[in-house]
Amino acid sequence: MERVDVAVVGGGPAGSSAARTAAEHGADAVVFEKGVPRADRPELGPDSTDAAGFLDYWVDIAELDVEAMPEGVYQHRLDKAEFIGPSETVEVTRTGIESSYDEFGFTFHRARLDDWLRSRAEDAGAEYRVGTSVRNVETDLSGEPSHTLTLADGSEVEAEYVILADGPQRQVTMPVLDQYLPEDRAASEVLSPRTVNHIAYQEYREIPEEVFEKHNIKFWWGWMPGETAYPWIFPNRDNVGRVGLTMPIGMDIDDFDKSAYRLLREDDDQIPSGKEYIRRLLEEVYGDEYDIEEDFPVIEEGYGKSKGTETYSISSTRPIDSPTEANIAVAGGAMGTTSAFHEGGDHVAMRTGALAGEYAAEGMLHEYNEAWKEAIGDELLRNVAIADVVKDYGPDDWDKTFDVTRRILEKSTGGSLISRKTASVGVHGLKLYRSYRKTKKKFANGGYVQLRQDEYQY
Ligand SMILES: Cc1cc2nc3c(=O)[nH]c(=O)nc-3n(C[C@H](O)[C@H](O)[C@H](O)COP(=O)(O)OP(=O)(O)OC[C@H]3O[C@@H](n4cnc5c(N)ncnc54)[C@H](O)[C@@H]3O)c2cc1C
Repeated sequence: MERVDVAVVGGGPAGSSAARTAAEHGADAVVFEKGVPRADRPELGPDSTDAAGFLDYWVDIAELDVEAMPEGVYQHRLDKAEFIGPSETVEVTRTGIESSYDEFGFTFHRARLDDWLRSRAEDAGAEYRVGTSVRNVETDLSGEPSHTLTLADGSEVEAEYVILADGPQRQVTMPVLDQYLPEDRAASEVLSPRTVNHIAYQEYREIPEEVFEKHNIKFWWGWMPGETAYPWIFPNRDNVGRVGLTMPIGMDIDDFDKSAYRLLREDDDQIPSGKEYIRRLLEEVYGDEYDIEEDFPVIEEGYGKSKGTETYSISSTRPIDSPTEANIAVAGGAMGTTSAFHEGGDHVAMRTGALAGEYAAEGMLHEYNEAWKEAIGDELLRNVAIADVVKDYGPDDWDKTFDVTRRILEKSTGGSLISRKTASVGVHGLKLYRSYRKTKKKFANGGYVQLRQDEYQY
């Protein structure tokens, strides 16, 4: 049977970063990527779905050398993010977090970023195999842990270390973790893997020159019902916008006041589809002046996964520790490291992947759970706390929050955006600040970890 030091399941940002550092640290590393067809990549490659924006301080978290990225990865400089509530809007021009990167952020071509990360791994000496899924991982703990990976074509590979980087759907990660968990803490229960609880949908549309804001990402909050339910527009190259949304699945429209949401209609008898929501958003925002289907056409050739669209299922959870005593690390989306909402995870995927690869190659994987907390703990605590504070927000709450944020930004030019000082802009500011502080305390000292390392049984 073929034998490798480090087998990596999944070849997205986490998997490629893991393979690169493992190879750089002397290990024989192989990535197994099932391969997803995309119109923007001639051959099979990793999944690469997303809206693809990076904020200033994420560059440091990812340890990303922006200058080294080949042409075509970087798309537009970002000057601001605009958050649009039902009535209030705020333009955020700084993150308030220290960073070595001078601009607010940038948008990038995700498939090309992934291809570059893959080539860096290969340049370091790792192998990247695409086109065969990993079906199963069996672990033998009788001596030094060793793993047998079974691939979809029936072949088997033995590995000393396994890094699970199969993304937020975790189809391989889940059953592997379940081997080390008691029934009542089964990963499949705790992380609800197979009942994917959110969906992301996006369309690539041409946007008229005069309204194409290439340095601005836009999000509409409180326009559609559900926790973490919002549409966005991200600028691509050539006046193409990625118009997308994320929303929970399985909601009942009768649980909501239809008149409170700008993207619902009184005669809706079910939650609209992603496609319908996007159409309504564009109608609401640009419909007075434009014929949406004619002036904002979906670009069916050369973009996305299928005819200029892509759909992605997301299982949203908090981060988890890895069963490192079994020589297994979980990294990136598979370990639940997305940002406050579902988008914004490439930086933490790259960093956790890179750490897992390095620690596996050095035979120090037992230090991985501490190492990732040290590297990205602040970011995760912030994100988990923010997501918790806003989880029950309705349209009015978003308006109040955007009003407060706008006043904070008008008042301050530097430093943290959420602080005792900035909160003094009004009653809602103070309330928001207190609730954030309290929630952060609840999740402090690793309290945001959803499956702790001491829960694994070997
Ligand atoms: C709609 C949307 C918008 C987003 N926008 C942004 C953004 O603007 N900025 C940002 O930083 N992040 C964004 N994200 C988050 C970002 O996409 C994720 O954080 C990132 O992809 C996680 O990287 P990963 O390598 O962990 O997982 P993935 O990129 O999901 O990669 C996992 C890989 O594993 C492969 N795989 C799965 N199962 C198997 C198997 N059995 N065998 C072999 N291979 C397998 C998949 O094909 C896939 O290529 C967005 C996410 C979504 C859904």
